[in-house]
Amino acid sequence: MKKHLAMVSLLTITGLYGLLAAIVILISYLTEGTALPGIYISIVILIIQFLISPWVTDLTMKWFYDAKFSYEVPEYLDSFINQICEKYNMKHPKIGFIDDGAPNAFTYGRFRNDARIIITRGVTDLLSEEEVISVVGHELGHVVHRDMLVMTAVQVVPLVLYGIFEICMDAALDDDKSSSSSSSDSNSGNAKLGFAAIGAIAYVLYIICQLVILWLSRTREYYADEFSCKETKNPSSLASALVTIGYGLATTGKTETENKHSVTTPNPLGIADGKTSKELAICCVGGDTEAVRSDIQNAMKWDMWNTWAKVYEILSTHPLIAKRILAISDYCPEYGQERYITFDLEKPKGVVGNFARDLLIDSIPSFAFLAAAVLALVFSANNPEFLPLYFIIPWVLLLVKFLYKHPLKGMDERHSVRELLGVVDVSGITPVPCEVKGTIIGRGNPGCVFNEDFVIKDSTGIMMLDYNQPIGVLNKIFALFKSPDYFDKTVTVNGWYRRAPVPYVEIKTFEVDGKVKKVWTYGFGKFGIISMIILHILLFIVFYV
Ligand SMILES: [Zn+2]
Repeated sequence: MKKHLAMVSLLTITGLYGLLAAIVILISYLTEGTALPGIYISIVILIIQFLISPWVTDLTMKWFYDAKFSYEVPEYLDSFINQICEKYNMKHPKIGFIDDGAPNAFTYGRFRNDARIIITRGVTDLLSEEEVISVVGHELGHVVHRDMLVMTAVQVVPLVLYGIFEICMDAALDDDKSSSSSSSDSNSGNAKLGFAAIGAIAYVLYIICQLVILWLSRTREYYADEFSCKETKNPSSLASALVTIGYGLATTGKTETENKHSVTTPNPLGIADGKTSKELAICCVGGDTEAVRSDIQNAMKWDMWNTWAKVYEILSTHPLIAKRILAISDYCPEYGQERYITFDLEKPKGVVGNFARDLLIDSIPSFAFLAAAVLALVFSANNPEFLPLYFIIPWVLLLVKFLYKHPLKGMDERHSVRELLGVVDVSGITPVPCEVKGTIIGRGNPGCVFNEDFVIKDSTGIMMLDYNQPIGVLNKIFALFKSPDYFDKTVTVNGWYRRAPVPYVEIKTFEVDGKVKKVWTYGFGKFGIISMIILHILLFIVFYV
């Protein structure tokens, strides 16, 4: 696996630049060089963005995340960082600390010598010292591998492709004022067709490039994981840290008394893609190793079996947690450790079928609206009184979808985080109505003062809570002025557990200090759709009668 990851990255980057060179040569030939200045300008802008980005991110971190760069790094961690810096001949990265109980770690900067690594209080609260070292080891892997530079450099390719798409579309849709004077109509028509075709190709390549870059990003994550394992010689601790940060499942490390808080969030070069949790005790703690092992396998089922996981992964900067901890487990024997985890469960039938069901439920209302619009266009000239009738069925179907996505039956049944993580038939469309009870330990996007989501912790793990009012600005006001009131409070939440691919509970109501708070999105949504159905029926009656 070792040289493999570096080699695969190199080949991908070479391929992307080869493609870029080919398309730039082609386009400059076709436009006789007139498109080139635009391409150069966009590349220069990207370079400037890259050069100033660390300062912009520094300010964002200080202003909106209250990150402290004066953080005194604990001795055990500092000596590890120093050891890596010495080995790779680079400066000690600036370490920023965000005082939020949800766990997250990420890195940014430009080069090896101006890297910043941010960790949240959740990391040190929830993880053992060994796990913290492994997580920071992963971030140092990004620095040593120059991933900030690599990922920026590849962005040039889709940027230029998109520029070419725009140039070609302009040329294809151009009103012909300049060219028609010299060339015949059919010639300029052909040229336009040619530009339209190149524009379409550029756009398709642009989409493919984005997917390739996401794939490259996931490769760099595996690569940083490998670095951490190699430098710490402790793959198991990285794996268990990921179970906690990536899934939210309590595993190893700290003893119950040491544990206080936990969670995470998406970040291009972060440790994990979404929020997760932890706090159990697996490998290091004697006794219940088997039970924890089966908890982890349960949490992995969704990643391994649900088709949605594969779809989300293609669109993610990070690989699925299950795949990462399996890849990390492969390194264990090399360092004299027992494999951290294996996944040998038998896949039950029917899981894949649920993906088709979800897609169908999700898309049928849209198709019905489309069909209604076509009917309206075709027939409404002669029979305008039927116009409202066409749209009643799409609205009814939308109501069916809405009710399917927000079932109320079972919402009073209490579930632990561990139980929910074991559910396989769950997605953004199909939820599990549930009640969860625990302590709010931080924000869904740890430290971000504009983030209205929470992370809750029960005795089995941590889980993101999606707080979403129908009017966006209300969320921001809540985040700024109300959220902190709930930190460290015990809450009972009723809502819908979903996984997309990060597990979370969409809040319907939550109870704190004996008071029930409500998120109005469900009520507004249902009221809105039903109103539209009634409105269309009334319109039909009025028109027809
Ligand atoms: Zn990473």
